[in-house]
Amino acid sequence: LTLSACGRDQTVKVGIENNFRPFTYTENGENKGFEVELWDAIAKKAGMKYELVPMGQGELSQALQSGKVDLVVAGMTVNKARKDNLAFSDPYFQTGLVMLTAQDNTDIGGKDDLKGKTVATKLGSTAYTYAGGLGTPKEVVGYPDIDEAYAALASKRVDCVIFDERNAREYVQGRGQDKVKIVGEPLNKESYAIAAPKKNKHIGPINGAIEQVVKNGTYETLYAKWFGG
Ligand code: GLN
Repeated sequence: LTLSACGRDQTVKVGIENNFRPFTYTENGENKGFEVELWDAIAKKAGMKYELVPMGQGELSQALQSGKVDLVVAGMTVNKARKDNLAFSDPYFQTGLVMLTAQDNTDIGGKDDLKGKTVATKLGSTAYTYAGGLGTPKEVVGYPDIDEAYAALASKRVDCVIFDERNAREYVQGRGQDKVKIVGEPLNKESYAIAAPKKNKHIGPINGAIEQVVKNGTYETLYAKWFGG
């Protein structure tokens, strides 16, 4: 089988994140997650050969700009600022940011209770921008890896973590169990999409493929596998 007629014979380099569970993460040298599997289905439909390049979230945008990767599939939230510099596929996941506190915390029930508090999150994430925009916290601490923010909360070095809901939920139900909890309702609405440099030839075929994997039930199957239906 040759796909060269479509000009898609080159191997596409796809940046993924090494620690954004359960979407994309690297465990024992293996790349795993909902997005890793969803991307594989999309790439097959689009007839794209690819190679995964795992890295920290902070490196992903730079890797796109420098051409080290052609695409990023890493729970990347679409927003106006990013759209100034990048092209995005159609969104494939709706979510939002949530607040977490220590399990026994009783004075933080929502974003209005953060006056004078210390908030931790991941540097460069939409949550970091959101937390900075609140204005009321005493300090917003950004870590390169979200696990450092969760650890700071579990050991009560910070009062609150703000981060993407599904990742937070996985932490609360797993390693953070009995230490931290999610409080209140999601703070906003965000959607994830695949990012590419403004000038690219991939987003068109990718959007067609996303539509197909939704229609043929693959999306639903993967969703049920990773998020329990
Ligand atoms: N959705 C968030 C963002 O786009 C976090 C993504 C991530 O940590 N991989 O900033």
